[in-house]
Amino acid sequence: MSVSPIHDRRPPGEGPGAVRREAPGGRSGGLLGEPRRLLAIVAIVVIGGMWAYAGWMILDLRRQAWANARHDAASLLSTSERALSRDIELYDMSLRTVADLMNLSVLEGVSPEVRHLSLFDRLSRARGYGSIFVLDSNGDSFLESGAVVPRRLNGTDQPYFTVQRDDAEGGLFIGAPRSSRITGQEVIPLSRRFSYADGKFAGVIVGAIQLSYIREIFDRLKGDSAFTVALTFRDGVTTMTTEATAVDLKGPGLRESREVLPWPLHLSVFLPESAIDEAWMPQTRPILTIALLLSAAILGVLVLLHREFGRREEAERQALAAQTELERLAATDALTGLWNRRRFERTIARCADPATRPDWALMAIDADHFKWLNDRYGHPAGDRALRSVAAVLITRAAASGGEAFRVGGEEFALLVACGPEEALRLAESIRAGVAALALPHADHPRGILTLSVGLAHGAWAPEASLQDWMDEADEALYAAKRQGRDRVCLAREGAPREPGPAPPVRLAAGGR
Ligand code: GH3
Ligand code: MG
Ligand code: MG
Repeated sequence: MSVSPIHDRRPPGEGPGAVRREAPGGRSGGLLGEPRRLLAIVAIVVIGGMWAYAGWMILDLRRQAWANARHDAASLLSTSERALSRDIELYDMSLRTVADLMNLSVLEGVSPEVRHLSLFDRLSRARGYGSIFVLDSNGDSFLESGAVVPRRLNGTDQPYFTVQRDDAEGGLFIGAPRSSRITGQEVIPLSRRFSYADGKFAGVIVGAIQLSYIREIFDRLKGDSAFTVALTFRDGVTTMTTEATAVDLKGPGLRESREVLPWPLHLSVFLPESAIDEAWMPQTRPILTIALLLSAAILGVLVLLHREFGRREEAERQALAAQTELERLAATDALTGLWNRRRFERTIARCADPATRPDWALMAIDADHFKWLNDRYGHPAGDRALRSVAAVLITRAAASGGEAFRVGGEEFALLVACGPEEALRLAESIRAGVAALALPHADHPRGILTLSVGLAHGAWAPEASLQDWMDEADEALYAAKRQGRDRVCLAREGAPREPGPAPPVRLAAGGR
C-alpha cells in the first residue's frame, strides 16, 4: 500500500526549528531565468548581426577600392600608351622626312647651309628629342640637325645601323636603351634607312628620344597617385620606371600591361597593395567605432537588466524565505520548539483518508504528575523539564521520519508512518529516553519525571473516523495512567502481535 505524504518529512536531524525550503509554484529561477536567457539571445543576435553588417561594409569598401584602382590603372595605361605612341610617331615623322629628302637626292650640289635648312627646318621639336644624324653607308655621320658642321659619329657597331643596312624593308628601328655617345644621357635610339635611286643602301638617319623626357610625360600623367609606370624593351629589360627608387614590380598589388604596338615596347602600370589599402582602410575606422560603441551600449543595457532581474530574484527569494520562516514560527511551539497544536490539527486532518490511515501511527503522550513537579520545583523548572522532554521527542521523531507536537501544557503527540511493531518500539524508546534523563521529581513514586504513552495505529482501526482514532489514542493514554503511569498502552490489546484488524476492544475511558 502506497503512503501518500500527509506532512513534510524532514531528513533525520532536521528539527522543527529548521526553515522549510518550500518554493510554492516553483517561482525561484525558472520564470526569472527565462527573460535573462532571452535577453542574452537577443543581444547576441543584434550584436552578431551588427558586426556581420559592419564586416560586409568593410569588404565592400575593399572591393570598391580595388575596382577603382583597376579602373585608374586601365586609364593610366591607355593614356600613357597614347602619349608614348604620339611622341614616337612625331619623331619618326622627322626621320621619315629626312629619309625621303635623302632618297630623292635633290640636295646634291647645294651649299651645306641650304641643304641643312632644307633637310631639318621642318622637323618636330621637343625638349627630349635628340639631334638627328645622317650616316653614310660606312656609318660615318655627315649631317646633323643640330649643327651645320656635324659632330663625328660612327654607327657601324650599332644595331640601329646594321639592322637598316641589312634589311631594305626595315622601316622604323627602335633600339634598346643606351647612353648616348654624344650627350651621355639615357636614350632610346630610333633609325630609318635611305637608299639610292636603284634601292642600294645609302645610309641611315638616326636620332634618339631621351628616357628622362618619357619619364616626365608618365610622371605628369600619373600625377600624385602611387602608380608606377614602367617601360620595358622587347627583351624584358626594364627601360625606365617613374619611380626614382627601385620598386618591386612583382610584389603584391595591382598590375596592368600592354604592348605598344607595332614597336618592341611593353608598357605596364603597377599599384602596390599597401596603396590600395590606404584608400579603404581609413574608412573602416568610423564603421568599427560605431559598431564598438553600439556593442558596448547593448552590453551595458544587458548587464543593467541582468542585475535588475537578479535583484528582483533575490528580493523574491528573501520574501519567500521570510514567509516560510513566518509560517514555521506560526506552527512552532515557542517553549519547546516542537510543532504546535495548530500544526497538529492540520497535519492529522490529512489522516482522515481511510485509504492511507493504515500506514500511520499516532501517539498521545503526557508527562506524569507534572502538576506536582511544578508545585515542588516551580514553574521555570517545569518549563526546563518540558524542554528536556521535547528534545527527546524531536530526536526520536527525526530518527523515525515522524513529527512531534506539543498539543497542550504537558501533553504531546507524535505522528509517524510505520508499522505497529515499529511504532511500539518507538513509543517505548521515547518513554525510556525520558526516564533515562532522570529528571528529579520527588513527589513521583519513582522519584523521576516519566511519560505515559497511548499508541493507536491506523492498521487497527481502518474503519474508524478520524476523531474515533484520535480518541483511541487518548483512551490508551488514560489506560496507561490508570495502570500506574510510565508505560505504553495500545489502543487495541494484542493488535501489534496479530496481523490483520483486531477486534475493536476499546479501553474504558476513565479518570486518572
Ligand atoms: P497526570 O499524571 O495525571 O497527567 O497528572 P498531572 O499533574 O501531570 O496532570 P494535570 O493535568 O493535573 O496537571 C498538568 C499540569 O501541567 C498543570 C500545570 O501546572 C502544568 N503545566 C501546564 N502547562 C505548563 C507549562 O507551560 N509550564 C509549566 N511549567 N507547567 C505547565
Ligand atoms: Mg500529566
Ligand atoms: Mg495532562
